[in-house]
Amino acid sequence: MNFALPAKVDLAFLPTPFHPLTHLSEALGGPNIFIKRDDQTGLALGGNKTRKLEFILAQALLEQADCVITAGASQSNHCRQTAAAAAKLGLECHLILGGEKPAQINGNILLDSMLGAHLHFAGGNRKGEDIPALVDSLKQQGKRPFVVPYGGSNCFGAIGYINAMCELKSQLDTAQIKMDHIVFASSSGGTHAGLALGNQLLEMNINVMGVNNDKQTSDKPLEQVIESLCAQTLTQLAIDSALPQINLNHNYVAKGYGVINELDKQALTMLAQTEGIILDPVYTGRAMGALIDMINQGLFDKDDNVLFWHTGGAPALFAYASTLTSD
Ligand SMILES: *Cc1c(COP(=O)(O)O)cnc(C)c1O
Repeated sequence: MNFALPAKVDLAFLPTPFHPLTHLSEALGGPNIFIKRDDQTGLALGGNKTRKLEFILAQALLEQADCVITAGASQSNHCRQTAAAAAKLGLECHLILGGEKPAQINGNILLDSMLGAHLHFAGGNRKGEDIPALVDSLKQQGKRPFVVPYGGSNCFGAIGYINAMCELKSQLDTAQIKMDHIVFASSSGGTHAGLALGNQLLEMNINVMGVNNDKQTSDKPLEQVIESLCAQTLTQLAIDSALPQINLNHNYVAKGYGVINELDKQALTMLAQTEGIILDPVYTGRAMGALIDMINQGLFDKDDNVLFWHTGGAPALFAYASTLTSD
């Protein structure tokens, strides 16, 4: 299908690497596991939000904004990448972070402040509840604020992941590989919406499976959030198409967001020790733990090709050091 993507600013090193995980596949006795390295998008230690910000911040520049606001958990990778993108584009950046200011500044928060972002700690409000008040106050100071939504998940963020599927398609074509499954961490839904839409629009016929890592906190199930993002994105792109099927796996939510369990820890050490690849404790460790567990349960055929989409997040590791090293 022919479609044109909207304005984009270059923030990432693209294409990100795509390669097989031979030793992990051997250790697990098949299927053939591959990885897409969006931990290597390049901007301030990388991650999936950089692809979204390429399209979101193009809109901020079109609107001639002079500052950006976004929100997230205290160790938010999205906030860190937004702070870096804002620095690169010469925009002032305000981050509304969940929790209280920690006694020890570590991980992503250390990077946020190094990147020059203004930090606002919001207690229990880690999903942007306090954004409207900050917008008002910046406007009163004569500024032109632009709001980047929670997780960068609006239609422009999703378009970043349609763009990513175009990139993957050309890598698969070059390597002459038919991918059967993609497994990745899904949380605010923009990555999932873009991957599912890209898969459908490019007729790639891949089972796109998100692994949820958060308990439902809004009145809408995440599937509905993702579907409505898909609908908005199709409208934005003026494409007349049915909505894709959303395959979201809730079996690994466990104790919820950022509460590290044994399976997460096993996944982190297994990837590190078989492939020398560092995962993060909150998202990719959870998604890889799910993949390993599903493989051990025999849910994939031995000759299936399975892509693990690494979405980044390793800078948060250091803030979790004490949990990760306790037995
Ligand atoms: C934000 C994030 C995700 C989830 O992406 P969404 O588009 O919010 O669903 C996955 N992995 C990492 C490391 C992230 O920072």
